[in-house]
Amino acid sequence: MSQSRHVAIIGAGAVGVISAIEALREGHRVTLIDPGDPGGEQAASYGNAGWLSSHSVIPPAEPGVWKKVPFYLMDPLGPLAIRWSYLPKALPWLIRYLLSGWTEARVEKTAFALRDLLKDAPLLHRKLAEEAGVPELIERNGVMHVFPSRGNFDGDLGWRLRKRVGVKWLELDANEMRQREPDLHPRYTFGVVVEEAGRCRDPGAYVAALANHALASGVNLVRAKATGLKLNGNKLVAVLTETGEVPCDAAVIAAGARSKQLTASVGDPLPLETERGYHVMIENPESGPRGSMMASDAKMVVNWTDKGLRAAGTVEIAGLEVEPNWKRAEILRDHLLSMFPKLPKDIPASRIKTWFGHRPSMPDGRPCIGYARASRDIVYAFGHGHIGLVGSARTGRLVAQLLSGKTPEIPLAPFAPDRFL
Ligand SMILES: Cc1cc2nc3c(=O)[nH]c(=O)nc-3n(C[C@H](O)[C@H](O)[C@H](O)COP(=O)(O)OP(=O)(O)OC[C@H]3O[C@@H](n4cnc5c(N)ncnc54)[C@H](O)[C@@H]3O)c2cc1C
Repeated sequence: MSQSRHVAIIGAGAVGVISAIEALREGHRVTLIDPGDPGGEQAASYGNAGWLSSHSVIPPAEPGVWKKVPFYLMDPLGPLAIRWSYLPKALPWLIRYLLSGWTEARVEKTAFALRDLLKDAPLLHRKLAEEAGVPELIERNGVMHVFPSRGNFDGDLGWRLRKRVGVKWLELDANEMRQREPDLHPRYTFGVVVEEAGRCRDPGAYVAALANHALASGVNLVRAKATGLKLNGNKLVAVLTETGEVPCDAAVIAAGARSKQLTASVGDPLPLETERGYHVMIENPESGPRGSMMASDAKMVVNWTDKGLRAAGTVEIAGLEVEPNWKRAEILRDHLLSMFPKLPKDIPASRIKTWFGHRPSMPDGRPCIGYARASRDIVYAFGHGHIGLVGSARTGRLVAQLLSGKTPEIPLAPFAPDRFL
């Protein structure tokens, strides 16, 4: 039986809240620290696409991606855009990003590691949702990828690697796709269904429900911004916040894209960057998919949520501080209208909602899950990039195992924070 500790968890997004539930299950006393609402609009966990895609094992950078960098810089509305003004700051991260995807072997290594992290994530999320009294928010009916042609799929390294790590799928020709998705534009002629994957019907509501469940089970919530960690030698004594100290024996840094300053304050300057993303949501839509799908050409996911039909995706490298470029959300809206031609072109603005948020991204597409170098009282759990909702379920369990000094249930070497140091 491991020793019970008072654990302060910084950040109440999906990763922090599930870590809190799992740490409590391990017998620890838990305090969550966040200035915002758990799963609130400030968190990436609120506005994401809601995919629980256990097959999302391919990191963003693939071999040859460097050839596209000039386009990323020239087109501010492309699927991946880099703002010129932010380029000098982003450059060290971008170089690591390109290098991490330089060879197929490097991408494959990440794919195997992420497969371990994600394999049974839809089931883990379903169990958490049941525990929190919201089972209906997690569905495990599969997701579809749609392509203009079979050629777009056949040449894709990502799908070859998915096969290698054990992902299985169904392939659909144009007719079969049309039967499943009659409203989808006929320019899509090939589809892939990954039946093991799932989806969340409202990510913000899900994280809020998990947080309520955690609080009802004894977790304490402190509404404050953490500013640092107080160590006595290598022993953690408190988390420092803008409103005072939270004394504790252990801490988890799960502050999403804002974790960097906290890890740097304890001597770990890690290359965490924000991959900014947007969503557009149409309330009470006239048309849409029957299921949930990703369009290979638009690089966006279309998912039903309880609040409306959501299209989410694309990446903008521009840092944490500058204002959103809402034209990027308009592009998502236009893609959505063109994918489903029965959607009217003149939907009133009052029925269209937009959101923007920060994916917490490491250059190699793998999160940081492990101890700080300064102290094993500090556990890192951030950097999940594009897979933070689906990856949060297993991450929470791993965090609890690290806090208790247990052997983690999957190998953590690929996620070791010191791989960058
Ligand atoms: C457009 C878009 C689509 C996406 N689609 C998907 C998808 O379909 N599936 C998927 O799995 N993932 C998806 N993601 C990624 C996913 O949303 C993120 O990886 C995930 O939400 C990260 O969770 P988190 O808990 O680490 O961070 P967050 O959800 O960002 O939470 C961090 C929390 O920390 C708090 N915080 C920050 N600084 C401090 C501080 N100093 N002190 C205290 N608290 C602090 C914040 O207030 C926030 O509540 C998408 C992301 C985007 C942007």
